[in-house]
Amino acid sequence: MAALQGKLALITGASAPEGIGRAIAMRLAEEGACVVVTDIAQRISVDGVETTRTAMLEDLAEGIRTAGGEALALPLDVTSEDNITEVIQQVTARFGRLDILVNNAGSLAGSDNFLSTTAVQWSASFEVNILGPMMLSQAVIPHMRAQGGGRIINIGSTGSLGAEAGFGAYTAMKHGLVGMTKTLAAEFGPDGILCNTVCPGYIATDMHKAANVRLAGEQGISVADMKRQRYANVALRDAGLPRDVANAVAYLAGPEANYVTGINLPVTGGVPFGI
Ligand code: NAP
Repeated sequence: MAALQGKLALITGASAPEGIGRAIAMRLAEEGACVVVTDIAQRISVDGVETTRTAMLEDLAEGIRTAGGEALALPLDVTSEDNITEVIQQVTARFGRLDILVNNAGSLAGSDNFLSTTAVQWSASFEVNILGPMMLSQAVIPHMRAQGGGRIINIGSTGSLGAEAGFGAYTAMKHGLVGMTKTLAAEFGPDGILCNTVCPGYIATDMHKAANVRLAGEQGISVADMKRQRYANVALRDAGLPRDVANAVAYLAGPEANYVTGINLPVTGGVPFGI
């Protein structure tokens, strides 16, 4: 039997075509989980074509169903407590359970030279990177407790473990996320709820590519040179794939991780964590 058969997983920030959230949803569905894929309802442009994140989520859910899996797409802004309450009520009423929460949505707001960043940017970073996972955890834990356990997997970063110049707010928040995850592991272990952080390094997603372009511009070098410079510190000398992170999440969500809680699992290709 597939490892996650009969389990219900909810993943935030899952719409981006090359994103980590999408890869996680597909990977958990492959393991038999029914996946609720969510993202902020927002208009975006992909390769010059106007669309919405909700339409992209619908495509993802449809793709999973076509491959024989079960999926539901719902808009969810992780900074809105009302939206969280509404979505968790909808999901638990419809499926009768909630086994796995993956807090994947993230924001690079306030990623700049430290002195240029503003309190508004730091607050925006806090809302998406910490407050969202905190409010979602509060919403799902009573359901997990009532059903005898569950898994909360937070997507951190190497910025959870060390620091690279130019990512102050993000690094502070991703460190904070680890603190929250460890607290949840300690507090809800007795209820059978396991909480861990997966810490991706350089993963070739839209967010990462945008950071490469920004840093190249700041240093007045080409994006290719920027990549060579950044990946020189990676033992495997390249960025990873969203699927590499999804494999780590599938492990932590599944029965092989039954005795694993409170850890940070780096998926980095071997990268020093900076300072
Ligand atoms: P991504 O493609 O930008 O995915 C993040 C998603 O979160 C986007 O769809 C984003 O929407 C969404 N989001 C932003 N604010 C939200 C909100 N308020 N409510 C719900 N969703 C919201 O980025 P990714 O690279 O796949 O990153 C996924 C996770 O991995 C993040 O937590 C990130 O910090 C972490 N990570 C990534 C890397 C990497 O190299 N890519 C490395 C380390 C850690 P918008 O784009 O519209 O804001």
